[in-house]
Amino acid sequence: MKIYISADMEGISGVVSWDETERPNSDFERFRKIMTDEVNAAVEGALAGGATEVVVNDSHDSMRNILIEQLHPRASLISGNIKRLSMVEGIDESFAGVYFLGYHSAAGTLHSVLDHTYTSRVHRVWINGIEASEFIIFSAVAGYFGVPVKFLSGDDKVCQAARDYFGDIETVAVKKAISRQSAMMSPLSVAHQEIRAAAERAVFIPGNVKRFEPPITLRVEFASTREADSASIVPLASRLDAFTLEYTHDDYLVIIDALLTMCRLSAT
Ligand SMILES: [Zn+2]
Repeated sequence: MKIYISADMEGISGVVSWDETERPNSDFERFRKIMTDEVNAAVEGALAGGATEVVVNDSHDSMRNILIEQLHPRASLISGNIKRLSMVEGIDESFAGVYFLGYHSAAGTLHSVLDHTYTSRVHRVWINGIEASEFIIFSAVAGYFGVPVKFLSGDDKVCQAARDYFGDIETVAVKKAISRQSAMMSPLSVAHQEIRAAAERAVFIPGNVKRFEPPITLRVEFASTREADSASIVPLASRLDAFTLEYTHDDYLVIIDALLTMCRLSAT
């Protein structure tokens, strides 16, 4: 039985600032180790629950954060970018469940640590009218392959959002958000214990398969008109207003292509 772990960094224990999540800041070296330890706690839990194979996808920024030299010996690691399916690259029908570790809230969530949606150049994303966070966007890729979401960790706000969206899944809040850049923390030992236990329980629950039914309409509101101008050359995208593009397709993987293309173009 295979478990897939998508590991982001903003929702990892202790993290409250971009400085802790990006090269070349000195804090980054500390927090990539903490991220690796938290990944290993989830791997241990999944294995204790009976998983025979655990694939971890490094899903943050450069996607080269997790320390291979400290990775659990029974896990496999997908490291690096660029990957077509980005935060869920490598997922397919062979997995029994997906875990979202270290995730964060959508852009615009009040008092949630480092809230954003894929890039700070994006203000909001809707898919078929649902305002989408990263876990909503990428859980629907898992859903495309019929893989249920079983676990999510991050701050208390993203855990609440995940329970609201998925219903009965395992969540672990490793911090209680106070503002965008402050939170009350659990000690690492407690966070690891809770993640290990929840990751084990998650193997045994059905979880929830979430997908979007065609025709699928993606709407992206950019933070500035310059970014929307740059992204507007995506073929067949329509411009709804100065900030907003829309794109419709029946195939969700093409919707993901369109979203990631818009995000990359918005940087130019
Ligand atoms: Zn991230």
